Amino acid sequence: MSNIKGKVVVITGASSGIGEAAARLLSRHGAHVVLGARRTDRLEALVSEIRSEGGTAEYHALDVTQKEQMDEFIRFANSTFGRVDVIVNNAGVMPLSLLDALKVDEWDRMIDVNIRGVLHGIAAGLPVMKQQGSGQFINIASIGAYSVTPTAAVYCATKYAVRAISEGLRLEVGGDIRVTLISPGVTESELADSISDEEARQAMKEYRRISIPASAIARSILYAMEQPAEVDVNEIIVRPTASV
Ligand code: NDP
Repeated sequence: MSNIKGKVVVITGASSGIGEAAARLLSRHGAHVVLGARRTDRLEALVSEIRSEGGTAEYHALDVTQKEQMDEFIRFANSTFGRVDVIVNNAGVMPLSLLDALKVDEWDRMIDVNIRGVLHGIAAGLPVMKQQGSGQFINIASIGAYSVTPTAAVYCATKYAVRAISEGLRLEVGGDIRVTLISPGVTESELADSISDEEARQAMKEYRRISIPASAIARSILYAMEQPAEVDVNEIIVRPTASV
């Protein structure tokens, strides 16, 4: 059994894709996982599955754009297990389109989920971790946090922001609290379902043919978590071998 046994790990966006894969893998390694998302039917099924395999899991309804829901989510994890060791800020949306399509509502949604959601996770979790004197934030960015592509300006902007926030957080709280940024390349999940623009949707369908499984990103989360306390894995980028 790995050294993450008994760690309390909170995962946002655990109802599909990378969050779901992380919940499965980490619970198999003995972590106590607390899962949040809006689709609670999915979370309920996942928790039953994890428990039937001998794992420890709980779930709570969560919309990361609502600060009070994030506060309640972290409170729930802390009161259920007595501590919060790791927060995986994973929830994200990616409705891609060209800027001149002026899909302002979708820009706002990306900013709300991908940036505000991460900030809400930090705001809710940091006081708990500071009181404990230890903890780890694992923030999921993207290769879009390093370069911009057409149709992805706003999405990339949100991921650049997650990268900047993670680095700032590390510089400010590093010492007691570890901060890891994980940036996946194209990965199997439901992420592209949020694209409403037909052209961007088709282009992404083509691009996603080389997707790697979500379990590959889950393994990088496990890697960052299982390092000894004095080792802080700052950044991991995981791409399909086939990409350039
Ligand atoms: P999925 O669409 O499969 O998962 C996204 C998760 O986010 C779902 O569980 C969804 O749950 C949750 N979510 C969305 N909006 C909210 C909200 N307002 N409140 C709470 N949860 C929310 O995609 P991925 O697994 O791929 O995405 C996970 C992360 O990985 C994202 O941050 C994404 O940007 C990043 N990423 C993914 C890549 C990929 O190719 N797949 C590449 C690079 C980065 P629900 O709808 O039930 O609330």
